[in-house]
Amino acid sequence: MTPDDLEFFKKLLDQMLVEAQQNGDSTLEDLTESPSSYADPTDRASVESDRSFTLRIRDRERRLIHKIYEAQQRIESGTYGICEECGEEIGVARLKARPVTTLCVDCKARQEEGEDIQGS
Ligand SMILES: [Zn+2]
Repeated sequence: MTPDDLEFFKKLLDQMLVEAQQNGDSTLEDLTESPSSYADPTDRASVESDRSFTLRIRDRERRLIHKIYEAQQRIESGTYGICEECGEEIGVARLKARPVTTLCVDCKARQEEGEDIQGS
């Protein structure tokens, strides 16, 4: 990976972090509206299901934010773009598609095969 590539991913991760945090903030605002302010029980039920949907999204955002932080740390420590399984370079094309990934294509495929076996 060239210094230019690294700079590119640094900016990309910064941008992803801002977007993920903005999404987290806007869902947080939705949650502050109390369901009890709805007198009609039907409305209340739909607000409750919106609420659990919102919580799921927030959970996903939180995990993504965590992954972005980790990727930023790897950029700082000079290990970004190195597969944590085999130590080979992940490759710029794959990183552009998934900037927070820690595995090369081969190791990712192996991991998914392993998950399938465990899942069945
Ligand atoms: Zn690998």
